[in-house]
Amino acid sequence: MKIETISVRVGRDIESATGEVAPAVHLSTTYERDIDGEFSRGYDYIRPDNPSRRALEQCIAALEGGAEATAYASGSGASLAVFSLLRPGDHVLAPVESYHGTAKQLRDIVGPMGVSYAFVDMTNTDVVRRALTDKTRLVWLETPSNPMLNLSDVETIADLAHGRGALVCVDNTFATPVWQKPFELGADLVMHSSTKYFGGHSDVMGGAVVARDHGGLSDHLRDYQSTSGNVPSPFDCWLVRRSLTTLACRVHAQTHTAARLAQFLHRHRGIERVFYPGLESHPGHELARKQMSGFGAMLSFCVRGGRDEAFAVAARTKLFTRATSLGGVESLIEHRKSVEGPHSVTPESLLRVSVGLENVEDLIADLDEALRMSG
Ligand SMILES: *Cc1c(COP(=O)(O)O)cnc(C)c1O
Repeated sequence: MKIETISVRVGRDIESATGEVAPAVHLSTTYERDIDGEFSRGYDYIRPDNPSRRALEQCIAALEGGAEATAYASGSGASLAVFSLLRPGDHVLAPVESYHGTAKQLRDIVGPMGVSYAFVDMTNTDVVRRALTDKTRLVWLETPSNPMLNLSDVETIADLAHGRGALVCVDNTFATPVWQKPFELGADLVMHSSTKYFGGHSDVMGGAVVARDHGGLSDHLRDYQSTSGNVPSPFDCWLVRRSLTTLACRVHAQTHTAARLAQFLHRHRGIERVFYPGLESHPGHELARKQMSGFGAMLSFCVRGGRDEAFAVAARTKLFTRATSLGGVESLIEHRKSVEGPHSVTPESLLRVSVGLENVEDLIADLDEALRMSG
């Protein structure tokens, strides 16, 4: 099945008892036992498994082409689930420009538990090769990265990592399975912040990890999920599952608009640089053509005039909401450096845009107006 069909059909079976076409939200925390003490209907308690979460997990696993998905309370909950695979003495490689929350987990939670880590330039496979050690158990990739949209070569890095006995997990939040299938490139695990494109409407938080194969990794994650209690509510699962039905449509339309905006910004003299993998000037463009089927709907740009001018441009836009997060139906604009904290390597003049579903001409006109008044 293709992605559009999966997103409409998988985990949305018609309820046989009622004929309901739209799935119900299953709020029950507990399930009736059979007379002989068994649970022949498959559920016993809400935390280990429930129908709303199972429907979501089946759909996400199918979207990524993996064996099994586990859903979590947030994207951060999902990355922590992956880090729960690590043991004292293990070593992790992660990108210099990791999502700042993922980097903070390594520094504040994983590191103090006796795991060492290094942030490396994942755009350079030679750097990755040299950084791998016999203790490296996990290579974390985020491609395209946040917020500079840098590309990492998943296939080459997965080969290098596997050669040293390390696992590879790709944070696929920006690309979504609509444009990138990390398992086809050799990844072992795929992680998502469902708060972004999966949820798609800026009204639900969640996360997921997909394991390529059944077995050790997926068993560990399933056990971790239940034991940690790091789980989404049935209603949150229902909302994300509902939004997934339109994932491909939304991402296609948003990407189309993003490409137009990137071209517009690229030509604008008030802009120093545009970071969008679809632009030929982008250093990751060739790699993006190779490992992605589309360039996505996230872009960033550096405004001439530095930090103050970046803030001024964001303030003058009328259609772009000044807010963090991404992947929703409304376009957002954000000064990243000021939210990323002291470890941030993001330029002061950079604004990140999450392109929504508004009309492209309206969005271009709005940015044009905001930039016209700048220096
Ligand atoms: C938002 C985000 C996360 C964290 O997800 P939350 O749902 O906010 O916890 C991780 N990675 C990327 C790339 C993100 O954009």
